[in-house]
Amino acid sequence: MTQESQRDPVGVPEHGMVLPPDNYEPDPPSRVMSIHAHPDDQEFSVGATLAKWARAGSHIVTVCITSGNAGSNQFTPLTMTREALAPIREEEQRNACRVLGVADVEFLRYDDGMLEPTVQLRRELTRLIRKHKPDAVMCGDPTVRYYGNTYLNHPDHRAAASAALDATFPSAGTRLIFPELLEEGLEPHEVRRIFIHGAETPDVFVDIAETLPVKLAALKEHHSQLGGRVDLTEMMTGWAKEQGAPRGIVAEAYKLMTLR
Ligand SMILES: [Zn+2]
Repeated sequence: MTQESQRDPVGVPEHGMVLPPDNYEPDPPSRVMSIHAHPDDQEFSVGATLAKWARAGSHIVTVCITSGNAGSNQFTPLTMTREALAPIREEEQRNACRVLGVADVEFLRYDDGMLEPTVQLRRELTRLIRKHKPDAVMCGDPTVRYYGNTYLNHPDHRAAASAALDATFPSAGTRLIFPELLEEGLEPHEVRRIFIHGAETPDVFVDIAETLPVKLAALKEHHSQLGGRVDLTEMMTGWAKEQGAPRGIVAEAYKLMTLR
C-alpha cells in the first residue's frame, strides 16, 4: 500500500478492522520506544508489559517529554522549585527504567503542565524514532478527554500522545518531512506497530501476572511523588483485573495499530 492511500482511508477496503483472535497476545517487539509526558506515566500505564518484553529480550528506549517539574500538590514540598524538582524526577525515572529493564532513557525537558503537540515536538520525537529505529511505539490515546466521572485526562498526556502518533506516522518514515534530519544522517524509519494504552476500545491484552510486581517496584522508585507514602498494590491490581476482564486475566490492554 502506498502512503497516499494511507492518507485517505475512505473507500479503501484494506483499511477495515482486522480483529485479533480471542486469546491472541502480540509477540514482544524486538525494539520498542515508549513515549510519555511525565516521569511515572510509563510505569502506571505500560510498566508491566515493558518488564515482560525486556525479559523476553526486547530492546526498550523510554522517551520522557517533560521532567515532571510541576510535581504534585499532595507530596511536593512548598519550598520546591521547578528547577530543583526536574533532576530529582529524572533520576527517579532512570531508576524506574532500570527496574523494568529499559535500556536507554531520553529526556526532552519540556515544562510539565504546558505541553502542546507542536511541530517542534513532533520533529524531536521523529529524530528519536529515526535514531533508535523501534519496530513498535507505545503511547497514550490523544482522543480521551476523561475517564469515568472522576478523572480528566491530563492535557500533557493528550499532547504527548498526539505528537507521538504524528511523529510515528507519517514523519518518521517520510523522507521529505523534516529534511533537516537527513542532514543529521537520520534516514526515514517505518514503525510497524503502535500500542495505544488508555484507549476506550482496547483490542489486545498483555498478560501481566508475572510482571505486575515489577511494575509496582518500578512505581516505588518515584519517591518524590509516591514512594513510601502510598501503597499502590491494591489500586494497580484492580486496574490490571479491570483491563484484563474481557479475557479473564490480569492485563495491560491496548488498541494495537499495525501499519502497512
Ligand atoms: Zn502524567
